Amino acid sequence: MDTLPPFLEHVGNTPLIHLREASARTGCTILGKAEFMNPGGSVKDRAAKYLLLDALKRGLVEPGGTVVEGTAGNTGIGLTLAGNALGLKTIILMPETQSAEKQSALRGMGAELRTVPAVPYANPENYVHQARRLAESMADGAAHGVVYPNQWDNPANREGHLASTGPEIWEQTGARVDGFICAVGTGGTLAGVSEYLKSRNPGIVTAAADPEGAGIHDWIKFGEIRSSGSSITEGIGQNRVTGNLEGALIDDAFRIPDSELVPVLWELIGREGLYVGASSAINVAGAIRLAEQLGPGHTIVTVLCDSASRYESRLFNRGFMESKGLPMPPWFD
Ligand code: PMP
Repeated sequence: MDTLPPFLEHVGNTPLIHLREASARTGCTILGKAEFMNPGGSVKDRAAKYLLLDALKRGLVEPGGTVVEGTAGNTGIGLTLAGNALGLKTIILMPETQSAEKQSALRGMGAELRTVPAVPYANPENYVHQARRLAESMADGAAHGVVYPNQWDNPANREGHLASTGPEIWEQTGARVDGFICAVGTGGTLAGVSEYLKSRNPGIVTAAADPEGAGIHDWIKFGEIRSSGSSITEGIGQNRVTGNLEGALIDDAFRIPDSELVPVLWELIGREGLYVGASSAINVAGAIRLAEQLGPGHTIVTVLCDSASRYESRLFNRGFMESKGLPMPPWFD
């Protein structure tokens, strides 16, 4: 494509924000990549951009065609907005456990949203398999093509971060970065950024911040997917080695319970002025753990994935938070 639609042109090049509280507590410089400032409001705009450009380049779909994807919501939002700018229709399959805000946003931007029961990946009715089967069933005779981007296993996702997020972090830190950490949904962000940073300096430590209920921590530490418990985070919490994670250059992992990330979330909102969601908070909590491990004086980068506005009905709902044994923001007391 010679000229990108403006939406795609403005994905990326997000600011790198100094997190004063986390930095002061650890004696390190902790920086958050402000992915919530992407035009569709999350880090997944990058995956949407590179997955769609890949599909167009490979001739799988053209304007007038349809994109069918399974997503926790943010990829669906990125795909729908980018799809609107490219003349593509979007059908999104999403587990019904995801926030009402992401569901209404998807409907509001014109996606055909199908919510399905949340069942594990091993179950054929899992939203990922349903999306693939739906795309396959629609493909025959479709005039302008039907594409199933498959954010989980399509390396175009990881390559997007290798080509954009990684180089941006390298340049924004003036090549002075010692560690990178983030949580894993598809693994595209962690694998792509880690690959780029290590290509510039193999000594940079890369790590995963994993919520309860996810198996990536044990996979990195012990070579085996194992998980228990659950988390209020959405869009992360993986229990298989996705195609985007295979061969990823990840040195370490930290398991971060909700009880540790929620106070960090209230600090990001209430003391930094960063109105971010819970996956951003687990990333910053992970950066604090990595900083404590590396010791004072290091620079650690993480990702501020999306906005708290996608989760207000849960994060600021006393009944919901109390049912999980989690504190409300101090300003609600
Ligand atoms: N945070 C949020 C809020 C997300 O929606 C996602 C992706 N589903 C991630 C983090 C993880 O990103 P990735 O898929 O690149 O691992």
